[in-house]
Amino acid sequence: MRLILRTFILCMALLLVSGCEKKTPPIPEDGRPIVVASTTMLTDLARQIGGDAVRVEGIMSPGGDPHLYQPTPKDARLVASSHLVIKSGLHLEGWIDDLLDNAGGTRPTVVASQGITPLHMEGFAGGVDPHFWFDLQAWTIASRNVGRALISLVGKDTPKGEAIRQRLDAYLQLIGRLDVWVRDRLSGIPKEQRILVSSHDAFNYFGKAYNIEVVGVQGISTDQKASQRDVANIIEKIKKHKVRTVFVETSVNPALIEQVARETGAAIEGPLYSDSIGAADGPAGTFVGTMVENVRMIGKALGGDYREFRLEP
Ligand SMILES: [Zn+2]
Repeated sequence: MRLILRTFILCMALLLVSGCEKKTPPIPEDGRPIVVASTTMLTDLARQIGGDAVRVEGIMSPGGDPHLYQPTPKDARLVASSHLVIKSGLHLEGWIDDLLDNAGGTRPTVVASQGITPLHMEGFAGGVDPHFWFDLQAWTIASRNVGRALISLVGKDTPKGEAIRQRLDAYLQLIGRLDVWVRDRLSGIPKEQRILVSSHDAFNYFGKAYNIEVVGVQGISTDQKASQRDVANIIEKIKKHKVRTVFVETSVNPALIEQVARETGAAIEGPLYSDSIGAADGPAGTFVGTMVENVRMIGKALGGDYREFRLEP
C-alpha cells in the first residue's frame, strides 16, 4: 500500500513536468544508445561486444565491492538516461533494482547470469553464490545474454547489429581459448596442493570448474563477518593440509587473511581480483586480463608450469 501511495505521489510530481506516461529516454546526437552496466566485469564485456555501436557506462569503478556499493545521485541520473541496463543477478547487486525502480521511463534490463546453473550456498541472499564469472563456461552464457540484448537494442538486421554479432563471435572464441589455457595452466598443480584459501568466497565457481578446493575466510558476501570459530577452523585446515600460500583480494579488507597467515606461517600472495577487474591501464584492465592475472598468480603460488596466454589465435 505504501508503495502504491509512493508511486502515486511520484507520478503526480512527474505529471507536472512531463505527464506520467512511461517514455524511452532520447537517443544521444551521436546515435549511440546508452548502455549502463553494474559491475566492472560487465562494463568491460559490454564494451568488448558493443564496440562503437553503443555508449557503455559502468556504475562501478575498478576495485569497488558490488556487495556493499552505495549508489550516488549520478548513478540514478545515468540509469534514468539509459536505453539498456545490464546487471549480474543472483542477488549480487540489489541496489541496481532500486535505481531502476526510481529511474522513470522504460528500458530493457538484461540479467547476465540468466540461464547459468547457480551454486547453492547457505547464508547468502536467495541461497545462491553470485560469483559465476570465474567459470568461463558460465561467462560464455553471460556473453551470449549480453550480446543478444545489445543486438536487439540496435536492431538485428542493421549494420550495427551485424557488427555486434561478429564481435560476439570473436569474443566467444577468445573465451573458449582462455578456458583451454586455464585448464592447461592449472592441470600441473599437484593434487595435495589444489587448495585455494582467500579473503572471501568469490572462487567457488572457479574451483568447481577447474578442480580446486576453495576456502573463503569471510563467507560469500563481504558484509558477513567471519566468526573467530570459522577462522580457527580454517587455520586448523591449513595446518592439516600444509597449505603454504593464502591469497588476499583486491575488493576485500585483508585483515582476516593476514591473521590466518600469521597464525599458520603461510605466505600471502595476490591480491587476486575477485569482484572487480583491475585498473584500465594495467594488465588486468579487461575481464580476460583479470582472469589471466588470477590464474598466473594461483598457478605460480600452488605449483605447475607457466605458459603465456596469447590473445591472438
Ligand atoms: Zn564477492
